[in-house]
Amino acid sequence: MSKQSSNRDIPLGDVRNIGIMAHIDAGKTTTTERILYYTGVNHKIGEVHDGAATMDWMEYEQERGITITSAATTCYWHDKRINIIDTPGHVDFTIEVERSLRVLDGAVAVYCAVGGVQPQSETVWRQARKYNVPAVAFVNKMDRIGANFDKAVTEIREKLQANPVKIQLPIGFEDQFAGIIDLVAMKAYYFSEEDRGVTIEEKEIPEDLKDEAETAHLELIEVLADLDEEIAEMFLMDETPSIERLKSAIRSQTLANELMPVLCGSAFKDKGVQKLLDAVVDYLPSPEDIGGVTGRHPKTNAEEKRLASSSEPTTALAFKIFSDKYVDRLTYVRIYAGTIKKGMTLFNPRSEKKERIGKILRMHANKPEEVDEAFAGEIVALVGVKLAQTGDTLCQMDQPVVLEHMIFPDPVISIVIEPKSQADKDKLVSALGCLTDEDPTFQVTENEETGQTLISGMGELHLEIITERLIKEFNVKANTGNPMVAYREALTAEAEGREEFIREHGGKKLYAKIILKVTPKNRGYGVTVENKIPGDSIPKEFIEAAIQGVYDQAKTGVLHGYSVIDFHCDLIGGEASASDSTDTAFRAAASIAFRQAAETAGIIVLEPIMKLEIETPEENTGDIIGDISSRKGHVVEMKSDGIVARITANVPMAKLFRYTTDLRSMTKGRAVASLSPSHFEEVSGNINE
Ligand code: GDP
Repeated sequence: MSKQSSNRDIPLGDVRNIGIMAHIDAGKTTTTERILYYTGVNHKIGEVHDGAATMDWMEYEQERGITITSAATTCYWHDKRINIIDTPGHVDFTIEVERSLRVLDGAVAVYCAVGGVQPQSETVWRQARKYNVPAVAFVNKMDRIGANFDKAVTEIREKLQANPVKIQLPIGFEDQFAGIIDLVAMKAYYFSEEDRGVTIEEKEIPEDLKDEAETAHLELIEVLADLDEEIAEMFLMDETPSIERLKSAIRSQTLANELMPVLCGSAFKDKGVQKLLDAVVDYLPSPEDIGGVTGRHPKTNAEEKRLASSSEPTTALAFKIFSDKYVDRLTYVRIYAGTIKKGMTLFNPRSEKKERIGKILRMHANKPEEVDEAFAGEIVALVGVKLAQTGDTLCQMDQPVVLEHMIFPDPVISIVIEPKSQADKDKLVSALGCLTDEDPTFQVTENEETGQTLISGMGELHLEIITERLIKEFNVKANTGNPMVAYREALTAEAEGREEFIREHGGKKLYAKIILKVTPKNRGYGVTVENKIPGDSIPKEFIEAAIQGVYDQAKTGVLHGYSVIDFHCDLIGGEASASDSTDTAFRAAASIAFRQAAETAGIIVLEPIMKLEIETPEENTGDIIGDISSRKGHVVEMKSDGIVARITANVPMAKLFRYTTDLRSMTKGRAVASLSPSHFEEVSGNINE
C-alpha cells in the first residue's frame, strides 16, 4: 500500500465521478480494463476470458466473467481524476446499479454495435433518468461481424427516447474497422496495434468518407443549433463554430440532459477507448457542475443545503459496505461537502452513533492508497466505520444532516441453507452477517419453528452467487434447498390488539401491558410504528422495546410465517410496573398484541410479481406469449419492427424458476430476457398449491 501526503492536489472541476453501464456482454469489463490500462493503473491488459481483468477482483466474479460488486476505482487522465464506480450488468443486481447511480455524476453507456440497445439497457437507462445522470454512449464491438453504428444510434433514439448525437464516425466496420473520425475536430484517428492503441495517429479524413463526415458534422451542428442560441445564429449566418465552441455546447447540453453524445470503437481491439476518456473529461460533469446537495435536519426536518466545497460542513453518503474475512470492513462514501480527515469522528444521524475514521483509502483497481484527507467531490473507502449501513449519511456532529435514504426493493426469492456441522454453523452466522452488511437487498431470516435459516434475495442468480461466496470465500460447508418464492402477508382491515403480559421467570415476576392499533396501507408503504400512548408513565426504553416487538412479529409473520408488510401501527395504551417491568416483557407484550390485532384484522398472502422483458425474433412471439399465459402472466406491452419483437409482461415469481433456461430452449437461444421485481399482489387461489 503506498502512502501519499494528501492535499487538495486536484481542483474540484477536474474530478469526474462516473459509472460504466451496460447490458451484460456489451463489453463493460473490457472497456473498463482498457481505461485502467491507458490511465496507467495497469501495466498489463487482462482479458475477461482469461479471468485476469482487474476490476473483477473477486474470484467468483472472475470465474463467471461478470462484475457484481461495485468497486470504486480512481485513475488519472491528463491531470483529471476519474473515479469509476463499477456497476454490474446483470439485472438481478439493479440495486447495485441504483446505488452507484446515486453517487455518480455522469455515466458511460456501453452498447454492442451488433446487439444494439437490449432490454436491460432500457432498465438501466430509466434508472439513470430517475437520478438525472448525464451520459455519453460508447458503441463498442465495431470490429464484430454485423456491427452497425447507425442502427445502434437509431435504437438509442427510439428505445431510450434519448437525444443521441454522433460525435464520431467509424472508419470501416467489422474486420475492416480501422479508426475513428472525430466530428468535432473533423480529423481521423488511428490506433497503433504495436502498443495496444496507446499511440494515436491523427490524419486527414479519408477521401471516401469525406462526404459522410461532412453530413454528420452538419447534423451535429444542427442538433446543437436547436438547443443553443449562439450556435443557431452562427448556423444561420453560415459561420463555422470553433472546436472549443462546439465542445462547450455539447458539454452544456449533455449536462442539461438534453443530449447524449455517441462515440464508437472496439475496446477489445484497442480502438477508441482513449477518445472515450477525452469525452468523459470534455462532456461529463464534475462535482462542481452538480453543485450542492440537499438533505434534512434529523431533528427539525428543516431543509439543509451543502455546497460542493471542502470548506462546508462534512457531509458524506455511505453507498457500499464491503466486508469479508480478508480485509477490514470498508465503507465506500461519496463526500458531497467538506473534508474527511483521518482520525476524525463523524456522526450517523440514523443510528445516532459516532464513528471514528481509522483510515481513508483511495481505491485503485486492486490496490488501495492511504491518504490523510479526502475532499468534497471524492469517492473513497473508509476503514473504522463499524455501524453505518448502505444509504446512511455521515456528517459533522455539530452540523447534522440526513441525505435522502436509498430505497431497496423487497426480496422475491428464498432458499433454506443448512450448515453441515456445528463449526460450519458458527462460520455461517458470521459470513451471513458480512453479506447482509454489504448487500441491503439480501436478507437472512430464521424460521422459529423449524430452526432453519432462510436466505432471500432479488433473483435466482443473486442467491446462487451468494451461496458460492459462502462456500469459496467464507469456507462454509452448507447444503441449500430449492428456491422458494418469498411471499408476504398483509392486513385487510384496521384492528386493535391488547396484551397484559404477566409471567414468572426464574422466580422473578415480569409485567407489561400494551394496547395497539394496526392500519393497512398501500402496497410499497413498508412498515411504520409510532408511539401514541398518552402521558409518559411508561419509560422510553420500554416503549422502544415495544416498538421493536412489533417489528419482530411483523418480520416473523402471523399466518404462514411470511413477513407482514405495508401497515402502520400505533401504540395507543399500556402500563408498566415499577418493580416488574422489563424491556423483554414489553417486547413480548407488543409482539403478542400485534399478532392478535393482525388476526382480528384478517390477513391475505401476497406474492412477488416480476417484470419480464424479452427481446426475440418475431417468429417466436407466439410460443413465448402462449408460455407466458400458461405461467399465469400477462403481457403488458408488445412492440415489433417486423424482425425483432419486444415483449413486456408481468409474471408471478412462482412461475419463473429457471425461466431463462426454458426460454433458451424454446427459442434455440435466440431470445434474451431480463427479470426484475415489479410489485406484490394478492395470491389468487390456494397458496398451498
Ligand atoms: P460485460 O459483460 O459488459 O462486462 O462484457 P465483457 O467486457 O466481459 O465482454 C464480453 C465479451 O465480449 C468478452 O468475451 C469480450 O472479450 C468481448 N468483447 C468486449 N469488447 C469487444 C470488442 O470491442 N470487440 C469484440 N469482438 N469483442 C469484444
